Amino acid sequence: MRTLKLLLVVLLALPAGAFAQGKLNVVATTEDLGSIAREIGGDKVSVTALAKGYQDPHFVDPKPSFILAVSRADVLIVVGRELEIGWLPPLLSSSRNAKIQPGGKGYLDASLNVRILEIPTGQITRAMGDVHPLGNPHYWLEPGNGRRIAQAVRDKLTENSPSDAAYFAQRYTDFDMRLAAAEKRWDATMAPYKGTKLVTYHRSWPNFMERFTLDVIGYVEPKPGIPPSPSHTLEVIDGMKTSGAKLIGVEP
Ligand SMILES: [Zn+2]
Repeated sequence: MRTLKLLLVVLLALPAGAFAQGKLNVVATTEDLGSIAREIGGDKVSVTALAKGYQDPHFVDPKPSFILAVSRADVLIVVGRELEIGWLPPLLSSSRNAKIQPGGKGYLDASLNVRILEIPTGQITRAMGDVHPLGNPHYWLEPGNGRRIAQAVRDKLTENSPSDAAYFAQRYTDFDMRLAAAEKRWDATMAPYKGTKLVTYHRSWPNFMERFTLDVIGYVEPKPGIPPSPSHTLEVIDGMKTSGAKLIGVEP
C-alpha cells in the first residue's frame, strides 16, 4: 500500500503536459468499450482502457497507473451490471475525481442502453459465488449491442464537449454504416452454423448465441465464477455426448 501511495504521489506530480491537451480524457474499464470510444471520439479524445483483452474483466489487479488514469478522466465508461465491482470502486474513491463518480456528468454505465439477458427473477444473491447478480454483463459480444453502446458513447461525449457534437455525430454515423456492412458479412458467415450445439466455459456468450442462433447446452463452470468440480464436469461430458455437442467455447 505504501508503494502504491508513493507511486500515486509521483504520478500526480507529472506536469499536465504529459497528457493530451484539449482532448477529452476517456477511461474505459475494458478494451472493448475503449475501442468503441476511439471510434466515436476520433481526434477529440484520448482513450485509456484499464483491463486488457486477455484479462478476466471480473477479476482485474488494479495498478497504480489505473488510479492516475481515473483521476485525470473527463469521462469514465463502465460495463456495469457489477462486472467491475471487485476492482473499480476502490479506484473511484482513490481518484478523488468527482466528475466520473456514478451519477456524475462524466460517468457512463454502458449497460443502461443495451439488451441485457439472464436478468435474475426472485431474490438476487451472490451466494455460491455467482458473479452475474444483475443479469449477464457480457452483453458487448453482440453487434447490435455494440451499436447501442456507440450511441450512448456519442451522447456522453457530446454532453461533455458540446462544441464537438457534429463531429461525434458524424463519427457515429460512419461507425454505424461500417458496422451494418460487417453485420451482413458476419450473418452470412454464421448462417451455416445455426442451431449448432456447444458448451462454453464461462457464461459469457448469451447475446452472441442469440444473435447467431447457436445452442449452448451447458457450461464448464457450474455457476459464473465458480471453478468446475469433478461431478459437474462429468455432467457436462454426459450432456455433450447425449446432445452431440462437439465444441467448447472459451475466451482468450
Ligand atoms: Zn461473467
